[in-house]
Amino acid sequence: MSVGDALPFDVNWERDDHRITLCVVGSGGVGKSCVTVRYLKDEFVEYYDPTIEESYFKEVECGTRTYDVEIIDTAGQDEFADHRNSALAQGDGFLVLFAINSPYSWQELKELRERIVREHEDKGELPMVIVGNKKDLDSHRQVPFDDIVDYCRSIQCPFIETSAKTGLNITEAFQLLIEQVKLVNPTILEEQWHYKIANQKMRNGHIPSRSSKECCIL
Ligand code: GDP
Repeated sequence: MSVGDALPFDVNWERDDHRITLCVVGSGGVGKSCVTVRYLKDEFVEYYDPTIEESYFKEVECGTRTYDVEIIDTAGQDEFADHRNSALAQGDGFLVLFAINSPYSWQELKELRERIVREHEDKGELPMVIVGNKKDLDSHRQVPFDDIVDYCRSIQCPFIETSAKTGLNITEAFQLLIEQVKLVNPTILEEQWHYKIANQKMRNGHIPSRSSKECCIL
């Protein structure tokens, strides 16, 4: 669609939540911040710095379209649990992380996933991807690959192994999640796309009309 075409549906300008929110969750130290920063800036931050919730925006490609996505790097520490709970309630999709060298984080992942599912039980299916981070530490693996495959099959959730350190599969993990959002909740992507087009029109001097058929040019 080019700027100047009429919008195919009414954009509700009173709403300010036309973005897609992806939450990166997991217990403390699994690499949530590193995975997020690697995805956004293609950098690896070596030193551990526990995070309170951080939020970022990125344009993400999916098929022939680009979408404005908010990425929330949730706090993994217990003392910040309230922040995490609010993020869990907001998300349209979840990247649920554990570290392949940490059995504790694997156990936590299962509990966390159940909490997320409970939080969103009214929505039915939930876009989610399970991520085994620190793949570069494969020689220190303590979560057997077969256990992960069995669990992910049982809950029918896609799974990918990543390394924020080397950059392995980081973009792929987020891409997989966007594809899950598209599969489970296509309307939200469709709405975001039209809102984005309407915004482009505004910036180019077009006034959005409540009717999809009319468009006024200044
Ligand atoms: P968070 O608490 O989940 O946000 O974890 P961080 O992103 O702060 O990372 C915790 C620690 O793990 C830091 O020391 C990182 O350098 C390290 N780390 C994160 N991702 C990786 C990875 O893929 N490989 C390795 N070897 N270390 C990682």
